[in-house]
Amino acid sequence: MRNIDHFIAGAAFASGERHGEVFDPNNGGVQAKVRLGSAAELERAVVAANEAWPAWAATNPQRRARVMFKYKELVERNMEELALLLSSEHGKVVADARGDVQRGLEVIEFACGIPHALKGEYTQGAGPGIDVYSMRQPLGIVAGITPFNFPAMIPMWMFGVAIACGNAFILKPSERDPSVPVRLAELMKEAGLPDGILQVVHGDKEMVDAILDHDEIRAVSFVGSSDIAHYIYSRGTANGKRVQAFGGAKNHGIVMPDADLDQVVNDLAGAAFGSAGERCMALPVVVPVGNKTANELREALVPAIRKLRVGVSTDAEAHYGPVVNAAHKQRIEDYIQMCADEGGELVIDGRGFSLQGHEEGFFIGPTFFDHVKPTFRSYQEEIFGPVLQMVRADTFEEALRLPSEHQYGNGVAIFTRNGHAAREFAHRVNVGMVGINVPIPVPVAYHTFGGWKRSGFGDINQHGPEGVRFWTKVKTITQRWPDGSVTGENAFVIPTMG
Ligand code: NAD
Repeated sequence: MRNIDHFIAGAAFASGERHGEVFDPNNGGVQAKVRLGSAAELERAVVAANEAWPAWAATNPQRRARVMFKYKELVERNMEELALLLSSEHGKVVADARGDVQRGLEVIEFACGIPHALKGEYTQGAGPGIDVYSMRQPLGIVAGITPFNFPAMIPMWMFGVAIACGNAFILKPSERDPSVPVRLAELMKEAGLPDGILQVVHGDKEMVDAILDHDEIRAVSFVGSSDIAHYIYSRGTANGKRVQAFGGAKNHGIVMPDADLDQVVNDLAGAAFGSAGERCMALPVVVPVGNKTANELREALVPAIRKLRVGVSTDAEAHYGPVVNAAHKQRIEDYIQMCADEGGELVIDGRGFSLQGHEEGFFIGPTFFDHVKPTFRSYQEEIFGPVLQMVRADTFEEALRLPSEHQYGNGVAIFTRNGHAAREFAHRVNVGMVGINVPIPVPVAYHTFGGWKRSGFGDINQHGPEGVRFWTKVKTITQRWPDGSVTGENAFVIPTMG
């Protein structure tokens, strides 16, 4: 059986007795074993990072950017291999896996412009003979801990910017689909990145705790579920690290009476069921405003959902593939039962779905509930599967309150032709990322990504200018080049520019 090793100091590193199982979601069997490391493997990575990062930090930003340009080219050249590998461990269809890699690459493209992004500020003549300037310096050794659902994009969000800023980055990817992160690190080496600047250590809580407790790791970026995000934030900051920790989500799609229903049905089908709903920016809740809108939407939506094709991840005709593992499949099915028990109308039940020839695969058919109430636990919690819940609202104000008062605040979308309603909604809703007739409003790489409330702990977002802020510290220099005349100022009084 294939073993997935750590990638330390530019080479595979086979160490550690514990292993995790990597499944083949299409068939249900175990396809590989991944090493589950501990403080010993982490220490090895930290030593290699320490040897490498001062020279990398001193490399001028244009040269660092050239590695990113080369990397972009290499990832593009290897796109098919990466997409197939990703799809085989995650279960998302290959076209969607390409999108996963591509969205990560867009952050690499942003990182190609790092010389510009790192430029500091300058004030000439802040006082007599005095100029003030600031510079952004790398933090040193930093780390990223990532979830299973975007094994290419999310690591690239983090290491693309962190490395371009001059840091050494240690990645602890999800142990459920760890192969693509290792390939991404190998390609960085091929692009010319010095050994020790991008390393991958595998593991579970034991490795995560070792990262959080390591004195020499200055910052930690985390993406995953909210309870773990909160834990990472608390323990990391208690240990004096800079931490950003992004968590779960329950994104709502508000449908106004004037919305283009054909567009809504098409957008909702993709955003609720694409990637089997295993996206933090999926739209698992739809909120039509008014019963007439709700009835019309339901009438159009139900046949569209019934037409969705669930297939193996390599089936080019499939809309979505299996979920990641058996435990997650069970969890989703438990939530379906919970929602039915709470009084939701189970219009389409995806449980019991079986694909001929792949009976052991982790498949769930699309599931649709109507008449879901905000008091349901199945509404309040994240399901993270191909399940769409319809919550009917009577008014715009009621629809606005639902996502605003929900414990999660990652993304939200409004579908309308009314500019005023859209503007009002965008300004008032208590959620971090908003789409107006855009179902999955993941911001482009040169803007920034981050949810609110229990979807994000810490106050600096991912990538874009915020990413540069997160991965650097600012130094401000006040310089005076006096012309030699004695000013007679009192050195015992706090200096002012007055
Ligand atoms: P997860 O929280 O189970 O795992 C994320 C990471 O934390 C993994 O690397 C895992 O090894 C580690 N981990 C797991 N249990 C741990 C523990 N007890 N202590 C320390 N570390 C632990 O998340 P997942 O199931 O891999 O990913 C799905 C979740 O991620 C969903 O909740 C989804 O909404 C969220 N997500 C959020 C965003 C975002 O940007 N907000 C993006 C993608 C996914």
